[in-house]
Formats: sequence, structure tokens, C-alpha cells
Amino acid sequence: MLTIESIPAFNDNYIWLIHKDANHCVVVDPGDATPVLTYLQTHDMTLDAILITHHHADHIGGISELKRQFPRCHVIGPAQDPIPGLTQAVDEGDHIDIFGESFEVWHIPGHTQGHIGYIGDNKLFCGDTLFSAGCGRLLGGTAEQLFTSLQRLAQLPDETAVYCAHEYTSSNIAFALAAEPDNIALQTYRDEVNQLRAKGLGTIPTQIGTEKAVNPFLRCDQEEVRKSVTEHIHIEENLEIFTQLRRWKDNF
Ligand code: ZN
Ligand code: FE
Repeated sequence: MLTIESIPAFNDNYIWLIHKDANHCVVVDPGDATPVLTYLQTHDMTLDAILITHHHADHIGGISELKRQFPRCHVIGPAQDPIPGLTQAVDEGDHIDIFGESFEVWHIPGHTQGHIGYIGDNKLFCGDTLFSAGCGRLLGGTAEQLFTSLQRLAQLPDETAVYCAHEYTSSNIAFALAAEPDNIALQTYRDEVNQLRAKGLGTIPTQIGTEKAVNPFLRCDQEEVRKSVTEHIHIEENLEIFTQLRRWKDNF
């Protein structure tokens, strides 16, 4: 069993730190080197490797400084996203060993074309693909790719711990409730999350089973989600018809 610590960065990023014994660790998506270096100094730890899920600055910004401080550190990341300083490019089906635990690499495109996730030890490191009660924006990939990636992640065992890269849960829940107001599991989850946030605590990791119950992006087969989306489309269509009607009258 690996131990996971969270290192907060920027406003709402999580840099995940993986360790087994007291002295060696791996970090996931270090967007900023400073909080990582502070943590490593405080806990007298050496950085063995950096795992990267995708190429956005808030996930890779700390690589060069961490490499400078720990020159022997491996930098493992997606073959299909441009990552400066990679020492090992990985892709779908590859396996990497983290302190004796085997992690499988999945290509989960959508947020970016090359986005990957790391799955092992009943844990998922999924970057900006799946968030609690939400998912990443399309910033390079297609909706079809993101849908397929999320459907795939939903097949993981319910108890899989989901380590995503942002604390977006509260705002995601507000949207999820607009899409699925009568979802009782979602209402309960909102109350739990509100209590955690009121105490200044994080909501991550979440679990696949929880996400299947509360996350509208994993629940497109649910009647209430379908109805909400359809109603929203009608509102947009009516606005478009009004706009065109007004323009037609202008020139009549
Ligand atoms: Zn991103
Ligand atoms: Fe991000």
C-alpha cells in the first residue's frame, strides 16, 4: 500500500505525493516547484520521479526546477502531449513501477489529445479528465474522446480512489444540481462537501462509486439529466429564433 499526501498549489490545484517509506517519493503533476520543495525539505525526502498527466502549465510548471534540485529524478509523461524534460514517454498499456506497485497507463484523451491516467494500487491519477461531480473542459480533444475516456474510467471498481488535479467539487456540485436536481445521492454529497469545505478540508480523493452516483457527466443515460439538457437546448433554440425574427423584422 502506498501513502498519498496532497500538496496544494495555486488556487485549487493538488500536487499528489506518493511514498512508501519515509525518504523517497514521487509527485504527480507538479505545476509549481516551490510547495513541493518546501514539503520535501520539511520531511527530508528525495524525489525519485515525476508523473505527468498532460501538458498544461499548471501541471508541468515545476518540472525544470525540481529537475535542477534532483537531477536523477525520472520524468514520466504522455507520449502524445508536448512535455518539456520528459525522460520516459509512456502511452496506453504501458506499466510503470512505483515503489513495488504496478501502475497501468491509460490514454484518456478529451481534455487534451495526449492526456493519460495512471491506475494501480486501487488508485487513479486522472489529472483534468475526471473531477468530482464534473470533468475537464475540451482543450484539445473532442467530446466523443472525453465521453469514451469517462465511460472507461467508470468501469474501474467502485472503491477506486480518484486523485484528480483540482479542488473544483463545490462549483461542480452547483452545476450538477442544475442538471439533476432530484438526485438524492447528489444532495447528500453536497451536504458532505459543504461540511468539509466549511472546515477548510479538501474533498479529494473521491471514489469511482461516488462519481457514478453524483457526476452528471457519468450519468448521461439518466432521464433527469437528458431532460435538463433537452430543456436547455430548447431555451437556446428559442433565443436563436427570437434573434433571427428580430433581424428579419429589421429588414422587412
Ligand atoms: Zn489541464
Ligand atoms: Fe489543470
